[in-house]
Amino acid sequence: MSAPAVVVIGGGAGGLAAAIRLAVAGAQVTLLEQAETVGGKIGEHRDAGFRWDTGPSVVTMRHVLEELATAAGTRLADELELVPIEPITRYLWEDGTELDLSADPERSVAAIRAIAPEDVDGWRAFLDHVRRLHAVTGEAFIYGDPPGIGTVRRIPLREALILEPWRTMDGVIGRYLRSPYLRQVAGRFATYVGASPYSAPAALNVIAHVELNEGVWYPRGGLRAIATMLERLALRHGVTIRTGARVISIEVRDGRVTGVRLADGSRLAADAVVANVDAATVAGELLAPGILPGRRVRSLRDGRTSLSGLVLLLGVRGTTPRLAHHTICFSPDYPAEFRSLFRDGRPAARPTVYIALTARTDPEHAPPGDENWFVLVNAPALGPGFAWTPEAVAEERARVLARLGAFGLDPDGRIAVEHVATPADLARATGAWKGALYGRSSNEAFSAFRRAPNRSPDVRGLYLCGGTSHPGGGVPMVLLSGRRAARLAAGDLGLSGPR
Ligand SMILES: Cc1cc2nc3c(=O)[nH]c(=O)nc-3n(C[C@H](O)[C@H](O)[C@H](O)COP(=O)(O)OP(=O)(O)OC[C@H]3O[C@@H](n4cnc5c(N)ncnc54)[C@H](O)[C@@H]3O)c2cc1C
Repeated sequence: MSAPAVVVIGGGAGGLAAAIRLAVAGAQVTLLEQAETVGGKIGEHRDAGFRWDTGPSVVTMRHVLEELATAAGTRLADELELVPIEPITRYLWEDGTELDLSADPERSVAAIRAIAPEDVDGWRAFLDHVRRLHAVTGEAFIYGDPPGIGTVRRIPLREALILEPWRTMDGVIGRYLRSPYLRQVAGRFATYVGASPYSAPAALNVIAHVELNEGVWYPRGGLRAIATMLERLALRHGVTIRTGARVISIEVRDGRVTGVRLADGSRLAADAVVANVDAATVAGELLAPGILPGRRVRSLRDGRTSLSGLVLLLGVRGTTPRLAHHTICFSPDYPAEFRSLFRDGRPAARPTVYIALTARTDPEHAPPGDENWFVLVNAPALGPGFAWTPEAVAEERARVLARLGAFGLDPDGRIAVEHVATPADLARATGAWKGALYGRSSNEAFSAFRRAPNRSPDVRGLYLCGGTSHPGGGVPMVLLSGRRAARLAAGDLGLSGPR
């Protein structure tokens, strides 16, 4: 019997992970990517001797990469050099306060003692809280099946109480930390899923665990090295990768997928299709009307979205000693920043600015003596509240530089080259629905229960992976979604190879 044919639509991290695992399991896998390269949001840009990662800059949950490498018959250490970053992040405030959080907890405590001595015990207790939160939520919300009522019932009541679904992230943070500096630091992890610490459910404090207790790495060469590694592993296992291949529809007969149709008019038959495309786009554009129940399409397309971002890639002459590999310049009014983004759908007046400087660790990412600034500012997903007209882009760019100026970091006069990417650019380049970085909003108490499952409940042979399906966005999470989609597909196809 010939190997079942699987088509993966989209070569983001989730799609590549699914393709690798299905190929290892014995499927004949073709991955179709609309862009000229795979990697999706894990992109890179080069100009005038500068090189930038254009998407993610922080790698957490290293064990997820390790496990994928093992499943692909190799060792992560043989494929990727992951270096720890020290400090993990430098936090700056306009009043001159600075905090370096380190991979070494005692070093972090010493730094915290210098700015908020009253919170040293609270900080330790918070780290302990998020560790316990991870132990309770890990299997139920991240590594296992999409959560449902049954999932929550399986958690013993005594442990389930730690979820505190009636509280927000900030509500619980405030129980441990009094210093406004530290509350802002702990709340910032909400933005890792594009949410607000003042609305997102307290369970999302678990994100602080993966960074503060488990650590942060940087792949030598840049985050793009992860995409290159995934592509290499896929090719090694016989996946056919076709770039410049845009799928315009998923074909369905009698409730089962039969293949896909491409923009060039060709058709590819498939026994199973794994879509690494935004779930809202699959529902509203790739499947013909009437295939999914209307309420499903509406819930995917009309639901609230997570944050997007405005990205400035700056090639900066000279060096800026105050910047670490990762630096955060905080807004003086964090609640106002999130009100603006989520309530008004507009960029904030005084946004928090994040700068990643890979040349700190890989000096060849900039000409000698210069720096490659990746500047990211939270922005609302595309909506009626704001239009990214050329004037608006110029205004927001100026605002970001002015914010940097407030920290003595204005690079004006030193910018050799620059490139700006708005939420609209992101939507165009990766098919992200409304340009949202992390799919639908995580601001509601039961967001995790509403995420698209990895196997379509409506169409047999259709699987979903990527940031908008279970368990959510972020590089390690989409790798897990690829694993789950591949396991489900392999099981349904009767494949028994390693997976
Ligand atoms: C600016 C920015 C900063 C981020 N920072 C971090 C971070 O620090 N740490 C972290 O872990 N995560 C971060 N993320 C999130 C992370 O990058 C994403 O969650 C993850 O890379 C998404 O992977 P995915 O599998 O969902 O696929 P995507 O990257 O969304 O890729 C989907 C792919 O499908 C292709 N495609 C879409 N439609 C079609 C079609 N019809 N036919 C063919 N191909 C199609 C697209 O071209 C794309 O290549 C960041 C993202 C951005 C944009």
